[in-house]
Amino acid sequence: MKLADKQFAVIGLGRFGLSVCQELQDSGTQVLAIDLNEDRVQAAAGIVTQGLIANCTNEDAVAELKLSDYDMVMVAIGSDINASILTTLVLKEAGVKSVWVKANDKFHAKILQKIGADHIIMPERDMGIRVARKMLDRRVLEFQPLGSGIAMTEIVVGAKLMGKALSELPLFHDQGVQVLGFKRGSDVQASPSGEQTLEIGDVIIIVGPESTLVTRLKSL
Ligand code: ATP
Repeated sequence: MKLADKQFAVIGLGRFGLSVCQELQDSGTQVLAIDLNEDRVQAAAGIVTQGLIANCTNEDAVAELKLSDYDMVMVAIGSDINASILTTLVLKEAGVKSVWVKANDKFHAKILQKIGADHIIMPERDMGIRVARKMLDRRVLEFQPLGSGIAMTEIVVGAKLMGKALSELPLFHDQGVQVLGFKRGSDVQASPSGEQTLEIGDVIIIVGPESTLVTRLKSL
């Protein structure tokens, strides 16, 4: 299915929900933005395909919106934890295939997990981790926790690694670690060979257990 044929819905149009709407819409997908509050729906109207006022803790409202036909539904309700949990439950019971939910804290996340949320995001925590990693190590371009203890990172090759082959990096052989890609200037290779030699400025894209990546990044 092409991205343009995918249908997304975002429930809760605070700063987070609106920025999700904006990015999805800019990427060419169809986005339905929903909020209880008319002013928030108005604010989203200029951004998304369609905006609707609805209370998504209400089973009938969710059935009427046919949200189960959507490819992904994001619950971006923050301050009202009860509404966030109930909305998630109603969506899962209505058969929505993929429900992504913003959680405020670990406790909120745990409940969401128990009631079947498919993906949980903790924006402040996730962003805090990414910023700290960048502060600690300027060789790390990106550090993205993906959930379940797995993360993706992009590192820039410095003088210490220059001339080495990818397979000489210990993390190349670590359990669960995959080198997904390799960038040199505008050239990008997926699944590069271990024989690829490194030059200063090359970028290596890696996915693997967060704890392994953090340990290895310290020793690079
Ligand atoms: P931000 O995203 O701005 O950091 P936040 O996550 O605290 O903040 P809120 O300001 O709480 O977000 O915004 C959540 C939005 O969700 C509000 O606009 C609110 O009207 C909406 N909302 C709350 N309950 C429901 C519900 N049952 N159905 C639909 N929308 C809801």
